[in-house]
Amino acid sequence: MRLFFAAALAAAAVHAEPAQLLAPAPPPPASSGASGSIDVEAATRAYLNQLPAAQRAKSDAYFEGGYWLHLWDFLWGAGVALLLLFSGWSARMRDRAERLTRFAALQTALYWLQFLAVTYLLSFPLSLYRDYFREHRYGLSNLTLAGWLGEEAKGLLVSAIFGTLAMIALYAIVRRLPRTWWIWGAGVSLLFLAIGALIAPVLIVPLFNTPKKLADQRVVAPILSLARANGIATGEVWEIDASKQTTRVSANVSGFLGTERITLNDNLLNRCSLPEIEAVMGHEMGHYVLNHVYKFIWEFGVIIVVGFALLNWLFERLRARYRFGVRDLGDVAGLPLASLILSLYFFALTPVINTIVRTAEYEADVFGLNAARKPDGFAQTALKLSEYRKLEPGRLEEMIFYDHPSGRTRIFTAMRWKAEHPETWSKKP
Ligand SMILES: [Zn+2]
Repeated sequence: MRLFFAAALAAAAVHAEPAQLLAPAPPPPASSGASGSIDVEAATRAYLNQLPAAQRAKSDAYFEGGYWLHLWDFLWGAGVALLLLFSGWSARMRDRAERLTRFAALQTALYWLQFLAVTYLLSFPLSLYRDYFREHRYGLSNLTLAGWLGEEAKGLLVSAIFGTLAMIALYAIVRRLPRTWWIWGAGVSLLFLAIGALIAPVLIVPLFNTPKKLADQRVVAPILSLARANGIATGEVWEIDASKQTTRVSANVSGFLGTERITLNDNLLNRCSLPEIEAVMGHEMGHYVLNHVYKFIWEFGVIIVVGFALLNWLFERLRARYRFGVRDLGDVAGLPLASLILSLYFFALTPVINTIVRTAEYEADVFGLNAARKPDGFAQTALKLSEYRKLEPGRLEEMIFYDHPSGRTRIFTAMRWKAEHPETWSKKP
């Protein structure tokens, strides 16, 4: 069970370090126009052709493999849930918790810790393949096996603490409000996600990385100027040492209710030119100005309420038929059944959730182009992101599987903007 919500990033620690060397801005490909007018399709194609065939084949294979992994993930999780239910294992874990304490909240906690340990171990082979071996095969991971295992242990600890609190709250609601729990439960789930997003930069991110304030004025000054121009009241930009884990280029906006923060990862800083960084920052500021966090909270709120309503309706029907040693929805022994129903629901909603997120990402792309006015920087970054995202998917493929616009869409969007803004590239006075 993975939380799909993008948790917030970055924490505190001022630093002074030697200035990073910025990569020089590469010249745009020939047909993207330095004078005259731009043929948007040709300019897009010129960028797409810059990706060597071998690199393209590799990122296509990585990304398409991800479609299948999404299915295997779901099937594997379903298999684990069914095993726990049909073997009576889940009922025995509850019995053990009930023998150890008579307090309902503690029983829920003790069941959850057993459930977490068992499902983690049973899913371990798939995680090891997906998150360690496969990432290395595609050159996307910088972690040693020991390093990766250490991060897994920390992640497990976080799930043990926050999962326990969430389970105690949700099961208390289900038991006290059996008819309307799905409404209150959705509210509390959103509250947990919101609190998680608020505390993640301070409590969770520092467990894995060391965020620090970005000091290089060549980068900070233009970013803060862009922020001021768009009404973003922040005096600082953050950098995170993501290269500890990954080779991916990335940046994000985290927090809300006044804790908003823009964080660039060090791969972006080390591998991208200033126009590329500015283009990415324009995009991130778009998320902020367009209030995407608040919109996501409402959108996911609706998705969770509907999911809980489905769970409320389906759970008792399946329980009445198969029993599983589960008494009712308020019995923690039914957790594998509840998680099976919810994971089926979220799996079926994959295209909807991807489209909600991808639409917001596209909005941020357009905002970023207008704000930063660096279409070639944006196109270059889109090419770099295609190291792990298939560059040119089919239209339907992009709708179903992409939670960000594809490289092709992004480069086309940038070239379309560029064609209408000759003042940003024309040599004419
Ligand atoms: Zn984005």
